[in-house]
Amino acid sequence: MTNHPLRPWRQIERRKSREIRLGDVRVGGDAPISVQSMTNTDTSDVAATLAQINACAEAGADLMRVSCPDEAATRALKEICRESPVPIIADIHFHYRRAIEAAEAGAACLRINPGNIGSATRVREVIKAARDHGCAIRIGVNAGSLERHLLDKYGEPCPEAMIESGLEHIRILQDNDFLDFKISVKASDVFLSAAAYQGLAEATDAPIHLGITEAGGPVSGSIKSAIGIGNLLWAGIGDTLRVSLSADPVEEVRAGFEILKALGLRHRGVSIISCPTCARQGFDVIATVARLEERLAHIHTPISLSIIGCVVNGPGEALMTDLGFTGGGAGTGMVYVAGRQDHRIDNDRLIDHIVELVERRAAEIESAKAHKDGPE
Ligand code: SF4
Repeated sequence: MTNHPLRPWRQIERRKSREIRLGDVRVGGDAPISVQSMTNTDTSDVAATLAQINACAEAGADLMRVSCPDEAATRALKEICRESPVPIIADIHFHYRRAIEAAEAGAACLRINPGNIGSATRVREVIKAARDHGCAIRIGVNAGSLERHLLDKYGEPCPEAMIESGLEHIRILQDNDFLDFKISVKASDVFLSAAAYQGLAEATDAPIHLGITEAGGPVSGSIKSAIGIGNLLWAGIGDTLRVSLSADPVEEVRAGFEILKALGLRHRGVSIISCPTCARQGFDVIATVARLEERLAHIHTPISLSIIGCVVNGPGEALMTDLGFTGGGAGTGMVYVAGRQDHRIDNDRLIDHIVELVERRAAEIESAKAHKDGPE
């Protein structure tokens, strides 16, 4: 664990939402905020889709969404759901048969808007399939595809229209006594998205799926998402999230965890704190951090690590991290353990040495945890 104490100014009071289940993952209530991503393979290519799901799960994804545009996709979904290490959300647009097939195939959740399914009979059939197969539903309102009557009423996509759309879909599920749903109101504009989410959070106790849609590439999209999603999480809103990036889905998972880590809402893996570098650096901080990120990607235990160029900020950052290294001195630097100076190490042995220390610390934490939890 990090050494950051839980001060009042560091605490986020989460909105109280109803808890639902997606397979063995709880969403809402006091469940940890889950991170999800979405495959971009051809779903009917089971091997490629499962490879991407496994890579995301390895990076920490709690849930994965898979597009089901046709029957070949829902046929493949059966094997995908069976083999996936995390529950699968089937992404359906409009077609009620695909929704029923996905529920039958073992999806833990359908992403479908009940108002878009068609007749009341079809809606009932989809809800029945979801209920019969223990499948939740995610209502996904998107500013870019609002219903015509709402656009006519409000003139343009706006928070009020998005909230009204969400509540209309909710009403359909509630009228059918179906309460295992969560909801998102995404927009690519952070102001629009945030205002819609804030209004929705007051209007329903359903768990909320956060996202800024079509956010962009890895850098711009992560920043935009961190502002939009981060602002809502900070206000206590959000039970699960997806960072949408034009990038490998694994990057979405990493970005999602970084947002949660920055807000102290979840901890996973090594959090590296490093300085931006300047002429005072006693070793190559940038190359070292890049190498350490690669070498420590397999660590899932929450550990904080400061890698700082010189004594200007090194000792101070080391005080707040589990392990630290500060440059300074002819070709050597100081290793800190739990905030205290521990020993010096040559810069050229730095990476292997830090990897070894982190691995050892992770093993200690895991064994202490196993000891405390006892046998299953
Ligand atoms: Fe420069 Fe030292 Fe600050 Fe790093 S910690 S940016 S090396 S002054």
